[in-house]
Parts: sequence; structure tokens; C-alpha cells
Amino acid sequence: MNMKMISSSSCCCCSSTFVPHLPSSFTFLKPKPFVSNYKQFITTICKMEMDGPNKKKKNRKYGSSRKSILKKTLKQEQVTFTAPIDDDHDPVVGIIGGGMSGLLCALQLEKKGIRSTVFDTGIHGLGGRMGTRMIDNGDEQQSMIFDHAAQFFTVSNPLFSELVDEWSKKSLVRESPGVIGELQPGGHFFPFSSAPPRYIAVNGMRTLADSLLSQSSMVEVVRPCWISSLEPYNGMWHLSENGKHRGQFDAIVIAHNGKCANRLLSSSGLPLIAKQMKRLELSSIWALLAAFEDPLPLPAAAAAVPFEGAFVKGIESLSWMGNNTQKLFSSQKTGPHCWTFFSTASFGKRNKVPQENIPSVTAEKVKELMLAGVENALGLPTSSLQTPIYSRVQLWGAALPTNTPGIPCIFDPLGRAGICGDWLLGSSLEAAALSGIALGNHTADYLRSGGTRPDEFAVGLHDDFKPLQGHDIGQFPGLESNKEIYEPQLLTGA
Ligand SMILES: Cc1cc2nc3c(=O)[nH]c(=O)nc-3n(C[C@H](O)[C@H](O)[C@H](O)COP(=O)(O)OP(=O)(O)OC[C@H]3O[C@@H](n4cnc5c(N)ncnc54)[C@H](O)[C@@H]3O)c2cc1C
Repeated sequence: MNMKMISSSSCCCCSSTFVPHLPSSFTFLKPKPFVSNYKQFITTICKMEMDGPNKKKKNRKYGSSRKSILKKTLKQEQVTFTAPIDDDHDPVVGIIGGGMSGLLCALQLEKKGIRSTVFDTGIHGLGGRMGTRMIDNGDEQQSMIFDHAAQFFTVSNPLFSELVDEWSKKSLVRESPGVIGELQPGGHFFPFSSAPPRYIAVNGMRTLADSLLSQSSMVEVVRPCWISSLEPYNGMWHLSENGKHRGQFDAIVIAHNGKCANRLLSSSGLPLIAKQMKRLELSSIWALLAAFEDPLPLPAAAAAVPFEGAFVKGIESLSWMGNNTQKLFSSQKTGPHCWTFFSTASFGKRNKVPQENIPSVTAEKVKELMLAGVENALGLPTSSLQTPIYSRVQLWGAALPTNTPGIPCIFDPLGRAGICGDWLLGSSLEAAALSGIALGNHTADYLRSGGTRPDEFAVGLHDDFKPLQGHDIGQFPGLESNKEIYEPQLLTGA
């Protein structure tokens, strides 16, 4: 296995320089770096950046109010790298975010012969919203496993399909034969017929994420690491974590979103990228992981075909319930029955609290409401649901995008920076994967072009956003309810 886990990233030196976007009173069409008077001019105008990447600067405090972030975002000057990237220079890209999009961006860069370092905050592993919680209490039969964000994925794009075939051959993923459908209050379950294949990660989603780079030799992973600052200096991007230098890069990829990304970009010198990121809107969703000693009493109509998962309709505290034990082990495992429940986005919004500091009273209230939702969905008498032997609630404060520019990636060639992520194309693992691949390709092509034709490489810096439709937990083309066909059969069969 060539993937390296390191606590500091590799560096790549180059002698290129950068200039900020010039004030409109100056008319340099094609500035030539290294011309002495020009250099002197730049030295003066960019004193702040030339002071060095880690020097403390006034007004560049990381982490401020939303209002001041917005002000900074709009006011900041554009960083412009002008020196060409030499042919004999071996460029390296810094990728901030090790979810599906960041990992596939790194792999695509490798396919094109470009090195990268992926930084991710994950303490237990990579993957971001491909999180899996494993509770191993020493007894295999009693162990518990929950996918606590992405549950499964569908495939509609040929490129993604090829990738999924590769993962299947490596036994990282497989098609799930389980039944899923729509569940309405009172235990009315309507299975989806002729739905597209659904894929699951055989050992949980996080294991898939952790395995993606296992054969790469040109990608380094730095984890857990929270990049808190990006600074252009001497022709390179310098990344740091709370003052600790984490390496220098020819180009950077922002492969995460939400409040964190807005803060990071608010004083980065990338106003166009920051502006697009700020237009993204995200839902909030509560997750309840719960293990039960006995199987849940599924409604009679569904019991003939015990469902593996259901999109729940008409109950605010519940939008999805999925049986991890059945999904991952079929019937081969005894022990706890591990379920993942998700709230609707409107419930998430109504009960929003700081996700990193959930008051225990809120956690308890949310758990009660969600379990009551389960009872309602399954048509069980009030307070009759068995008490879980394990439970945990978590708020996904920046869960899923609700709007999108509908483009594979965003790239700012002047600032040598790009964005990838699910939200650029939709709200699913497939969307995230395709976005990462697109940005990997684009960044590689840009770096190989020498960086001298920026106009040809600008992508998505001004595209409008449109609302995203779909389930509360993502878009799955073809996975819609067809209860009109199934309802009569099930009712007579029940
Ligand atoms: C509750 C829920 C259920 C879902 N269910 C499904 C489903 O069933 N099927 C499906 O296809 N999709 C589902 N999704 C959506 C899917 O999980 C996402 O579309 C996909 O995982 C997004 O990948 P990404 O790479 O764009 O971002 P992310 O997975 O969010 O990755 C971003 C990574 O960047 C890291 N990061 C952030 N800031 C920094 C920083 N400053 N420094 C370093 N690292 C940083 C984060 O920790 C994270 O690991 C679900 C999402 C949620 C929230």
C-alpha cells in the first residue's frame, strides 16, 4: 500500500511569483514578472503577502462573524499568479477536503501525472459525509455498524459507472438486493419497482473512502488536519493549520463547503470563488443511530418483503429509515439491529443548534421526536416501540445542497484555485465523484498548459444557481415512488 499517512506534507519549490489584481487605474495587460521596476511595484503593492505566509497581519483573523465574513469576501483583492509553470517543474496540488469529491480529484490528478496532498479533518478516517460509525465491543456478533450519512448510491453517468465497476471488482461495493420504498404514516409501505440498481459499500461507506487511495503513489494524505488559512506567497499557495505550516502548492482545490469554506475563503484573495461558494444553500438534517435488541415490527404489508430502507413521507421528524444490519449482513448476523434514521430538512431547520455543541436537552428532545416518528411511520401504538439498547443523535448542520450552478467544477486560473463538491452538480455521491474527476482533469490541463492562457481555463465563476429537487437525503434518478402500481396488490395481499 503506497498511500502515505503523514503528519506534515511534502513541499514543492518554484521560483514563480504572484501579483494581485491591479487597481483599475493601472493598465497592465500582460504584466511581465521579473522586470525589475514591475517587481518593485508589486513588492510595494503586495507588501502584506510578501511579508511571508505565517506573519500575523491586521484584519486577517480567521473565524469572525457572518457579517464581517461577507464584507471581507466582497472586498478582498484578487490574487493573480503570473509566472508560468515551467515544463520541468513537478507541480503539486493541495486538496482541502477528503470526501468523495476531493479523493476522486486526487486520483484524477494522479492519472494525469500530477502529485497532490489531501488534507482532511476526519479523526477516524476519510470520507466526510461518507461517515460510518463502528462500535466494536469485542464480541463480533454484538458489534454495531451504522452508515451515518450516505446510505447507498445510484449510477446514471457512464464515467461513474466505470468507476463503480472497478470498485465492484475490488469488492469495495456491491449491488444491494434489499427492498426499499416509500413509507407513509400508519405503516403503509410502497416498494419501488423497476428501480435502478442501488450500490452499498460492503464494509460501510467510510471503508470505501479509506480504500480509494490505497493504490496511489502520488497522493499524500494529511489527517486529521483542519486547514485554517490559505496564503499566496512567492508564487505558491501556502496552507496552514492554526499557524502550523502545512506545505506549499502550485494550485489548490477546495473540496468542502459550508461555513468552514466561507471562512477560509473570506480573506484568501479569491473573491470570485468565495462569492460562488457563498451562494450555496445547505439543508440541516438530524441523524439518529439506534440499535434494537429485536427486529423492528414492520407493517404487515411490508413484512412479506422486509424492507431495508424507506423514504418516509408525511412525518416531519423522519425522512429516511435504513436497516444497516440487513443491508450489510443480510440474515447472517445475530445481535443488535442497527438502524439509521434521518429527519426532514424542515425538522432540521426548526431544531437547529450548533452541531459541535449540541445541548443535551435538545439531543434528548430530538431523539424522542424521531422515535415517535418511527412509531407513527410503522403504525405502532404510542410508546410501544422497544427502547434502543444504543442510540446517538447527530446534527448534519451543512447536510445537502438545496441549490446548484449545475456545472462540474469551478476554476479560477488567475488565483490557481478550484472548487469541487456534490453541490456543483447535485446532491449525491455520484455528483460529488463526477465533480472531483472534472476538477482533477481541469487542474491538470491547466498546470500542463504552463498557466499562461488563463482566459481559456476560467470555469463557473459567474454561473447562476438554480434550486435542487430530490429526496431530503439526495437525488437518485429513477428512485421514485410508484405506489399507484403497488398499493392495490399490497393491500389485498396484506
Ligand atoms: C444525512 C445525509 C444523508 C445522505 N445520504 C446519501 C445517500 O444515501 N446517497 C448519496 O448518494 N448521497 C447521500 N448524501 C450526500 C453525500 O453524502 C454527499 O453528496 C457527498 O458525500 C459529498 O461529498 P463531498 O466530497 O462533496 O463533500 P464532503 O463529504 O462533505 O467532504 C468534505 C470533507 O472536507 C473536510 N473539511 C472541511 N473543511 C476542512 C478544512 N478546513 N480542512 C481540511 N478538511 C476539511 C470535511 O471534514 C470532509 O471530510 C447524504 C448526505 C447527508 C448529510
